Amino acid sequence: MASATQSDRGVIIVGAGPAGLFAALALKHAGLAPTLVAPRMDGSGDPRSSALLGGSVRALERLGVWARVAEKAAPLRLMRLVDDTGGLVRAPLFEGRSEEIGLDAFGYNLLNRDLNEGLRDAVAAAAIPVIEDKAVDVSLDADAATATLASGRTITATLIAGADGRASLVRAAAGIDAVATRYPQTAVTANFQHSRPHDDASTEFHTPTGPFTLVPLPGNRSSLVCVVTPADADRLLAMDDATFSHEIERRSQAILGKVTVEPGRGRFDLSAMTPRSFAGRRAVLIGEAAHVVPPIGAQGLNLGLRDGAALADCLSDAVAASADIGGPEALAAYDRARRADIVSRTFAIDTLNRSLLSPLLPVQALRGAGLWLMDRIGPVRRAFMREGLAPAMAEPRLMRDEVADAA
Ligand SMILES: Cc1cc2nc3c(=O)[nH]c(=O)nc-3n(C[C@H](O)[C@H](O)[C@H](O)COP(=O)(O)OP(=O)(O)OC[C@H]3O[C@@H](n4cnc5c(N)ncnc54)[C@H](O)[C@@H]3O)c2cc1C
Repeated sequence: MASATQSDRGVIIVGAGPAGLFAALALKHAGLAPTLVAPRMDGSGDPRSSALLGGSVRALERLGVWARVAEKAAPLRLMRLVDDTGGLVRAPLFEGRSEEIGLDAFGYNLLNRDLNEGLRDAVAAAAIPVIEDKAVDVSLDADAATATLASGRTITATLIAGADGRASLVRAAAGIDAVATRYPQTAVTANFQHSRPHDDASTEFHTPTGPFTLVPLPGNRSSLVCVVTPADADRLLAMDDATFSHEIERRSQAILGKVTVEPGRGRFDLSAMTPRSFAGRRAVLIGEAAHVVPPIGAQGLNLGLRDGAALADCLSDAVAASADIGGPEALAAYDRARRADIVSRTFAIDTLNRSLLSPLLPVQALRGAGLWLMDRIGPVRRAFMREGLAPAMAEPRLMRDEVADAA
């Protein structure tokens, strides 16, 4: 069989959030020919930060992104869980250090706007074509995937990747149903300065309405994800800066001293979504098109980056075998590569989240026993810390420790 031509390697990626930008870089690095389709973004809109764990940072290094953002990222060296549910059975505090599992840091936290800027700069440096337009229709047939853009232009490739977020047009075009859950919770996000150092510690208070999480940023700054009832979220968002700062200080038990919030707060209603399949009909799903999870344990974007890296593996394997990168074998390989990681993490996060909301004594006792085991039993605590960073199953090649830098 003839070797794959450039057009056989063409992949349209719809959506240029962090998952789409990363996937474009990973595919280009693996010898594919990605084209991004995404409306122009001003880049300053996202008020969140992302804690990037384990192989995510390694992959960003290999793709030439990390050098652009490293000084804006803070290392996470201490992981602290605090039971603040006020239940009858209180779980003990858990504290784990990265050095216990032989790492300098569990990962790094940085603002999404800084990460996205670094990814966009790397995409430009890699000369990946970006069409600044919105896809309004996607058609998938036996030989090709075609996107029609808002301008009326159509583009065609061997494969299309939906990195177009939770309401994915590509997922709908591929006829892939999803199971969705809404939680009675809303996350309020903000960034703030504080008078005491965070000492590279991330602290997650488990409250009866969800986690209240403080994650370090460089200097005496941190980001906040505060999961509360929708009504409480409305109250927090309506507060003036001084009152909101005082409220964060109170809810964080003043562990970071005096708090001064920075401008810009975010509001995210919590939900989960798992599609029945991650690929089909010349389409694959990545990022939040493929999984939505509540913001607990910093898993969402790390999963999204693993999607892009795994897709690069599957497609370069298909190219090496002179196979069709949008054909049934390549799609099945991608679905297999992502299923266990996505489904197991979605289940674990959902279970932990529901255990926080449950007033039932046995549920509280189980969570307490779990945290107690994690804290006291060395192998359990190390396994918990390692599993939080990366799946026990094989990581994509771009994220593995031993891969030589071929960038
Ligand atoms: C409060 C909160 C805190 C979080 N913290 C963390 C964390 O610490 N660590 C972590 O790993 N994850 C975290 N996450 C999850 C993480 O933020 C998401 O997984 C990530 O932002 C999803 O990126 P994405 O690229 O998949 O989707 P999006 O950022 O939603 O990007 C989708 C893009 O597709 C574009 N698009 C949509 N439709 C079309 C179309 N038809 N044509 C062209 N373009 C289109 C949109 O304009 C958008 O730019 C958090 C989430 C929340 C809510």
